[in-house]
Amino acid sequence: MPKAHETTLEIDLKALKHNVGYIKSKLSKDTKFLAVIKAFAYGSDALEIAKYLENLNVDYFAVAYTNEGVALRDAGIETPILVLHPQPENFKTIIERCLEPNIYSQRVLKSFIAVAENLKQNNYPIHIKYNSGLNRLGFNVNDIEAINKTLKQTAAIKVKSLFSHLAASEDLNEREFTLNQIHNFKTFANTLTKALNYKVLLHQSNTSGILNYPEAHFSMVRCGIGLYGFANDNAYNKNLIPIATLKTIISQIHTLNVGESLGYNRAFKASKITKTATLPIGHADGIGRQYGNGKGFVYVNEQKAYIVGNVCMDMIMVDVTDIDCKEGDEVIIFGPKHKINSLTKTVDTIPYELLTAVSQRIKRAFYR
Ligand SMILES: *Cc1c(COP(=O)(O)O)cnc(C)c1O
Repeated sequence: MPKAHETTLEIDLKALKHNVGYIKSKLSKDTKFLAVIKAFAYGSDALEIAKYLENLNVDYFAVAYTNEGVALRDAGIETPILVLHPQPENFKTIIERCLEPNIYSQRVLKSFIAVAENLKQNNYPIHIKYNSGLNRLGFNVNDIEAINKTLKQTAAIKVKSLFSHLAASEDLNEREFTLNQIHNFKTFANTLTKALNYKVLLHQSNTSGILNYPEAHFSMVRCGIGLYGFANDNAYNKNLIPIATLKTIISQIHTLNVGESLGYNRAFKASKITKTATLPIGHADGIGRQYGNGKGFVYVNEQKAYIVGNVCMDMIMVDVTDIDCKEGDEVIIFGPKHKINSLTKTVDTIPYELLTAVSQRIKRAFYR
């Protein structure tokens, strides 16, 4: 990949293909593959990623919000799209753009039916979400009768899948809890499918569920972070390749004398002669203020350079006193060889957060 001349998020589509292949190798041949591309495909670029994955024949996409699904349809994506967190406000748009809603409560079920009937739909696909223990969205076991009764009263919609979400699939200390979630989902799914009397897809596993709980693959899996090269576990991380590299360059180098300060609020004061590099990336680009004042770091010519002073909106300054570097040199913030989790650990967060925080104003460059 060429050297960066400005802040750039490079996306390696070959790595994406590799990750899909690795995760599919963990599935049985007839398990369907849903690619989660919410939040701009975890901060990369939803449209490019969707187009690429569509060519790899993934079975389904999922986004969180309706407008994310609309953007994919606008770009010509034809694969079914599950909207994980829709609101009744969005239901007309959902039907007009052939998106498929997660139906997670009686309120939402009834209001979707009303819109579907109003738009003269027949068997419009919906996905019923079961709350197996995350306590975030979903029906409970004692809702089954009411769901079934409501469904029997209309021809406008048809259940395409039943699904649920694991709370701690990456944490093997919570194995017992997770196995219980899987058991609960099976009970819910068995009871409701018997009542419906037609075949539906079942899915419960995110990336860590896919890797840690083969018994939770059911007929489809929902893979997010794994596509982008992370498995929440070092043993599996080895087999995945991070698809994104965040790069920037040195705009200017300053030498501070003892007693001089740097940046807003004069948060850094030099106690020795200090050479600093100013980089065009700041908290508006995803590098939050919590990374400032010696916590976060970047790589300048393969050496770690810590952020000094407060993170600005569009800039950070890093300490390059002991690093041989010059203005215009490339700087790596994270990438396949510069693990994002060693950076996110410094502020007690996870790759998901930093990846999805990389702002849309940063240029994306794709490599095949
Ligand atoms: C985000 C999300 C996923 C993907 O999870 P990963 O850990 O990124 O694989 C799957 N299912 C639901 C319901 C989600 O919200």
